[in-house]
Amino acid sequence: MTSPRLSLDTIRRAPKVLLHDHLDGGVRPSTLIAFAAESGYHGLPTSDPDDLARWFVADAPGSDLVRYLEGFAHTIALMQTKDQLERVAAETALDLARDGVVYAEIRFAPELHQEEGLSLEEILAAVLVGYDVGMANAAAEGRPIVVRTLVSGMRQANRTLEMAELAVRFRDQGVCGFDIAGPEDGFPPTKHLDAFHFIQRKNFHLTVHAGEAFGLPSLWEAVQFCGAERLGHGVRIVDDIVTNDDGSHELGRLAQFIRDRRIPLELCPTSNVHTGAAPSIAQHPIELLRQLKFRVTLNTDNRLMSGITLSSEFAACADAFGWTLDDMQWLTLNAAKSTFFPFDQRLDLINTVIKPGYQALRDEGK
Ligand SMILES: [Zn+2]
Repeated sequence: MTSPRLSLDTIRRAPKVLLHDHLDGGVRPSTLIAFAAESGYHGLPTSDPDDLARWFVADAPGSDLVRYLEGFAHTIALMQTKDQLERVAAETALDLARDGVVYAEIRFAPELHQEEGLSLEEILAAVLVGYDVGMANAAAEGRPIVVRTLVSGMRQANRTLEMAELAVRFRDQGVCGFDIAGPEDGFPPTKHLDAFHFIQRKNFHLTVHAGEAFGLPSLWEAVQFCGAERLGHGVRIVDDIVTNDDGSHELGRLAQFIRDRRIPLELCPTSNVHTGAAPSIAQHPIELLRQLKFRVTLNTDNRLMSGITLSSEFAACADAFGWTLDDMQWLTLNAAKSTFFPFDQRLDLINTVIKPGYQALRDEGK
């Protein structure tokens, strides 16, 4: 590679695409504190925004996904009114735009926001209004961003078909697809076939959290039974790859299929380190999967709980693996090609925003 090493400043200014980010995992600490004061919620450990940010991150590193998910109790408790949902969505869009993200698909599970009696439609509508506000604010700052919504169903609950139907009802109002989230072990994706088949029959889009903490059977079911177009995480596909003594690699049938079909992997390295699914960024399989030319994309998962941005995540990987601007563009184009944005708009994004953005940064270095 001839292109220079990446600085954080360059990374921030480069156009980026984010496919895997949770709305309830990226709330501003200052906003949580404001919501807690307004609503009389006494669960937060501190009312200092910096301390709270540190608390979320310090609390995150653990050894299993179930423990990590407990950190969401606070954010979800404080996202129960229309105003709260709208403000969090608006701030999310603006925060991502300020980080140089030009297109994002943010996911959340409407069923988790009904504690104050909101209907699913009211919840989703509030979030979509918030994104519109955030996109308008970002455009006013000269940082245009497109934000779309993925509706997540929870794998441990029995409402996934209802959530799939909700997602399809809002497909022309900013919802671009459906997902399932939650603990993998004991909750295989095939328990939710009715929801996935509904999405397929409606010609709608589907990504599935699979192959994060749990291995190949979960990935195989997601692709071959559920029709997943993308894999949320998918990192355990490395269990189907053998490295020989001479450094060459052999792909098993499933890994071969996923690579051949260009099924996008929504990889989230820091999140995997925090949940114990990977020992460190340097040892994370993203670099092997990138070198083997899987359709790798880089994502944040939960910016608050991991104390990251998409830019900091690119910087961490650039440090660990020596990624260049060319590598970053490849990963960004992978993500852009893998969006659930209509194809003509995807092409437009690539040709009028992403490629010129990287070219401008390359020209600066000459
Ligand atoms: Zn996730």
